[in-house]
Amino acid sequence: MERGDRAGRNDQEDRISELRVAFFAAKRISPAKLAAQIQEDGFSCLQCGECCSGQDNSVVVFPFEIRAIQAATDLDWLDVVSPPEEGEWDKYGYFHTLEWRVKKENDSCRFYQNGRCSIYPVRPMLCNTYPFYLDNGILQRSECRGLGGKIEPDEALRMAERLIKRYITEIRESIALLERYRDFERGEAGKSGRIVVHDSEGEHRITGNKVMDEIASIASLPAEAKASSHSRSL
Ligand code: SF4
Repeated sequence: MERGDRAGRNDQEDRISELRVAFFAAKRISPAKLAAQIQEDGFSCLQCGECCSGQDNSVVVFPFEIRAIQAATDLDWLDVVSPPEEGEWDKYGYFHTLEWRVKKENDSCRFYQNGRCSIYPVRPMLCNTYPFYLDNGILQRSECRGLGGKIEPDEALRMAERLIKRYITEIRESIALLERYRDFERGEAGKSGRIVVHDSEGEHRITGNKVMDEIASIASLPAEAKASSHSRSL
């Protein structure tokens, strides 16, 4: 193992340890206390749709959420989500990125139709907790015109419970991603159209409009890439 590989692996293990500490801290967050903070802020959805439309709309989703949307809609994976534009290139011309985002159409979430969410029962956690989120266990707010509105105690409590569930899920998904993540040698930006999305399930390789699983994709790589993938495996 090269020194750089070992340093990267140590960083990764340190990050996983931090996340495990955060996971147990998250389990101790009091829904009642969080609900009191939410109630102090106030929130009432105005049904304005601003969080579902416009350039700022960006919904990050986890694989299990994508599957739930697929089950409800019968859509293919790449009709539900797409990889973001932020990422890095490897030396074989693959573009690597770390998350999935709900697909957009005409600048809006593709599921925002006729002024409503067409997948409401299976909408992502990010949507069912908007405009709140937890950062290091602290309540944060995204921009929203509904903030300050009246919220009943039972609804504030339900929001708090969803927020804690989302936060714990985010930590768990990050741990799984890091445990499966395989580093790669960086290369020049190109136009191959080949993408690797690293997530909590491992690697999803996209070529054209197809997603291949990790094993199939490794078999499809050039010999030197296969050797690299395995030797840099975490
Ligand atoms: S999934 Fe539904 S709630 Fe979430 S951004 Fe899209 S339309 Fe809005």
